[in-house]
Amino acid sequence: MIERLNLALFVVEAIAYFAIMVTLLHFRHRIGLGVFLTALGVMHFMETYLAAVFYVALPFGIVSPGSSVFFAGKLMMILMLYLKEDAATVRQPIYGLFLGNLMTVGIAWFLQLHIPVDLTGGRGADFGFLNEMGWLMIWGTALLYIDSLGIILLYEKLGRFIQRWVVLRFMLSGLALLTFDQVGFFAVLHYFVGVPLSVFWGGWLAKMLSVCIYSGLFAAYQFAVRRHGATLAQRSISDVFNDLTFRERYQDLLSRSGRDTLTGVLDRNSMELDGPQLVRDSLEREETMTVLLLDADNFKDVNDRFGHLEGDEVLKAVASQFATVLRPTDRLFRFGGEEFVVLCPRTNHAEGLLLAEHLRWQVAGTVRNLEGQPITVSIGVATLGPDSVSFNGLLAVADDRLYQAKKCGRNCVVGQNGKVAAA
Ligand code: GH3
Ligand code: MG
Ligand code: MG
Repeated sequence: MIERLNLALFVVEAIAYFAIMVTLLHFRHRIGLGVFLTALGVMHFMETYLAAVFYVALPFGIVSPGSSVFFAGKLMMILMLYLKEDAATVRQPIYGLFLGNLMTVGIAWFLQLHIPVDLTGGRGADFGFLNEMGWLMIWGTALLYIDSLGIILLYEKLGRFIQRWVVLRFMLSGLALLTFDQVGFFAVLHYFVGVPLSVFWGGWLAKMLSVCIYSGLFAAYQFAVRRHGATLAQRSISDVFNDLTFRERYQDLLSRSGRDTLTGVLDRNSMELDGPQLVRDSLEREETMTVLLLDADNFKDVNDRFGHLEGDEVLKAVASQFATVLRPTDRLFRFGGEEFVVLCPRTNHAEGLLLAEHLRWQVAGTVRNLEGQPITVSIGVATLGPDSVSFNGLLAVADDRLYQAKKCGRNCVVGQNGKVAAA
């Protein structure tokens, strides 16, 4: 009876936690991302405290809601933040939590140098407890850091096999990383504090149950917002890892100029900085913006027939023809290889399609290979709002449409309502 009541309370706690945190995350553009991040950080102390001292009996074992509802929830929130924003944003709470926890332990240790005044009738700070917790906190912190990176990298890795099954990826990543966490954390509790093995299984089952609840709620949320924010463009694991661990800063330093050396247009690093910023600015000002993703058609042929150097010349010509059409506010980036991205602030979908069509027509009409045959490009167009509210989401939608343009025979533009015009 008590166990059932505890289970019901457990489920309510998980639902309430998810509902509140997701609300903060969802409205981050209105209330600021800081609200979500601060709530996440503040909750951490309570989780750790509860995980140490507060246990309840559920039908399948003894469980601490601190770890199985709230810690598990936090990890899922970190993954959700990554889905909504990007690696560069999610690393902020990851590092913030890591440093904050180290500071907590450090401060608890340092404060003991004081000789305190007893104003609370003997109910002073329990430094014995804090000391005991100190090394457990450090271990927990290190684990949390690995868990956070791990859950994101695993989510990306699963994308190679089940890209469109976002909820399943969310759930599998959660199940795997929380299993890892439970083994890592329990091993220490077991060997150093003598916590019995039954607690391991109870805790593990409770974490798995939480992940299932969170995944169900995540599915409902996805369904409710019906936006593309969660289907990030597929990125390489090393790219995401570099972002998460700040390595891209170093790489950024290496390519300081922000320009692509071959074509002279802005490079991909610049796009990674400018794109999310422009999305944020546009949302803040309640303006629209459009992203064009352009890919040269059958470019391998150009290289195969005329050599790589001639291919390079053609790429330069394509980029400079784009530049003749674009407006002063548009920004042109080389995305990689023979793919380009144009960011168009204050441009709605219809205007974006028109611009894309103009670009397509300009290239087809002016750029030729050595035998005089026209070089063409295919273009996918996505617009902030109806298509997605995140930069990565927009790129993913534009990429989808570019793929459709290729399937429709190339040299064409695809937008929200399919193909716009053919050659
Ligand atoms: P599709 O119409 O489907 O896009 O066909 P594609 O041949 O263009 O296929 P895909 O986009 O997959 O291939 C891109 C090719 O572009 C691969 C590579 O040979 C060539 N390429 C990528 N970067 C460069 C570059 O910097 N210089 C040259 N010359 N070629 C490049
Ligand atoms: Mg390509
Ligand atoms: Mg191509």
